[in-house]
Amino acid sequence: MLAARAPHRTRYSDPPTTALPELPEVETVCRGVRPHVVGRRVRAVELRRGDLRWPIPVAAVEALAGHTCRKVDRRSKYLQLHFDGAAAPVLLVHLGMTGRLFVDVKRPRAAPPEFRRHEHWRIDFGDRLLRFVDPRRFGALDVAAAATLAQHPLLERLGVEPLEPGFDGAFLFAATRKRKVAVKILLMNAAVVVGVGNIYASEACWRAGVRPRRAAGSLTRRECDALALAVKEVLQAAIAAGGTSFRDYVGVAEDAGFFARELAVYERGGEACRRCGATIRRTTDGGRSTYWCAGCQR
Ligand SMILES: [Zn+2]
Repeated sequence: MLAARAPHRTRYSDPPTTALPELPEVETVCRGVRPHVVGRRVRAVELRRGDLRWPIPVAAVEALAGHTCRKVDRRSKYLQLHFDGAAAPVLLVHLGMTGRLFVDVKRPRAAPPEFRRHEHWRIDFGDRLLRFVDPRRFGALDVAAAATLAQHPLLERLGVEPLEPGFDGAFLFAATRKRKVAVKILLMNAAVVVGVGNIYASEACWRAGVRPRRAAGSLTRRECDALALAVKEVLQAAIAAGGTSFRDYVGVAEDAGFFARELAVYERGGEACRRCGATIRRTTDGGRSTYWCAGCQR
């Protein structure tokens, strides 16, 4: 156990926008963790360090002992563990670039297993052990008051969730008027819509038949409808593909890779477009690759 520190005010720098995992992986982890922790009471919290990407509010996290988890959901790429008790905070978990959550199935009073290499914290839920492993330590562990969760500094400026009804053609049309920024860059702006990284933005543009470098303001309402739908489809396809891979995270302690993605354009530069046969183009903007088909994307 680490000693409780004086209360601090964390200063949050911007998380890296190119970070993996992307939203579908986080959703997959969320769905995988949920059945193992909801309804279970925290027996103990063990922290092996006082910070990850940012300082960990050690005392507040350790005070979750005795509380029962009642819900696990996600906002952008933050997992949110909600607990019973009016004063219990919501636990926020971000996987950063290399963070993984593992759930061990164990006997309630069995001796806990050895810490794994790069395992920074764990929560003992009795017959389940939630463990966080993160070699590069870009992940985060924080708490937020349940009543003001949406106003937490990490969450308050986030845009709409791409899989929720609020993200649709009408929303995208309104959000793009008079905007000169490239369509793909706008899709990756978390203040507009969260969780759409370079890969899925590229894939959605291809699916919608829109060139990623077009000015966002030039999109027609019909193109906005197609693009919003395409974003939902590429994310949902990835989540569906990842639905089984979480089994690798549960109980099994070995490395579990992210699911292989079905990609139409991303990292397919020079190859033939699956829709029209033209050659997939690749350009680089600010160190980030953009892929598109000049044959069928307008
Ligand atoms: Zn094409």
